[in-house]
Amino acid sequence: MDILIVEDEADIAQLIQLYLEKEGFACRVCSDGQAAIRLFQELQPDLIILDLMLPELDGLEVCARIRQKPGSKDPYILMLTAKGEELDRIIGLSTGADDYMVKPFSPRELVARVRALLRRTLRQGGQTKTYQTQHFTVDVDQRAAYRHADQPNTAKKGERLDLTTLEFDLLTTFMSYPGRVWNRAQLIEKLWGSDFFGDERVVDTHIARLRKKIEFDPAAPAFVKTVIGVGYKFEDAPAN
Ligand code: CA
Repeated sequence: MDILIVEDEADIAQLIQLYLEKEGFACRVCSDGQAAIRLFQELQPDLIILDLMLPELDGLEVCARIRQKPGSKDPYILMLTAKGEELDRIIGLSTGADDYMVKPFSPRELVARVRALLRRTLRQGGQTKTYQTQHFTVDVDQRAAYRHADQPNTAKKGERLDLTTLEFDLLTTFMSYPGRVWNRAQLIEKLWGSDFFGDERVVDTHIARLRKKIEFDPAAPAFVKTVIGVGYKFEDAPAN
C-alpha cells in the first residue's frame, strides 16, 4: 500500500511518515501542490494525506484535479485542516475527500483512519455485485452509481452520480439492505471499520452530502430517511 503525504510543514510530514512507515506503509512526502499532482501521476498511490493550506496549489485544488483525472487510480484522500471553520468550508464545497482531520491530531488516530480507509479497499476486492432499486443502480465492481428518473433500463443506464469513495460506499451499504434502520455506530463500523476514533456526527455530514447528490429534493429526502432517535434508513421501491 503506497501513501503520498502532501504537507508543507516538515515536522508534521515527518511525524506522519514515521508513524505510517512503522505500520509497514510505503510513503513519499512532498511539500507543495504541483509536486503532489506530479507524484500522484507517477506513483498512483492508494491513499493521499493532503494538507489544505499548501504553497502553489492548495489542497482543494489538488483534490479536485486528482478526482478529475480520467482513467487513473482513484485514491482515498484524507484531508488535514488547521481549523474547524476550514473543515466546515471543505465539507460545504464537497471536495471529494474521503475523510478529514483537524490539526492538531494524534498520529495514532491518523494511522487508525488510514488503516480503516485502506481496509475497505481490501474488503471490496473480488466482489462482483450490482444492486438495483426503482431509482438507483450501483455497480460495485465498476464503482459506478446511477440514478434513473423511473425504472432502471438496460438500454439507458440513467444519470451517473458523481460520488466520492465514501459516498459510494454509503449508498452501497444502504442499497444492500433497503429498509434497514442503521444507527451511526453501525454505519461507522461499515464504512471506517471498528477502530474508528472520533465523533459519530461525521456520519451526518456524509449523509447530508450524499443527499445533495442523490435526492431529487435534498430538503425533503425521499430515499435517505432520518429515523428520529436512531439514525438513518434507505427507502426505494424494488426494481421492475
Ligand atoms: Ca500547510
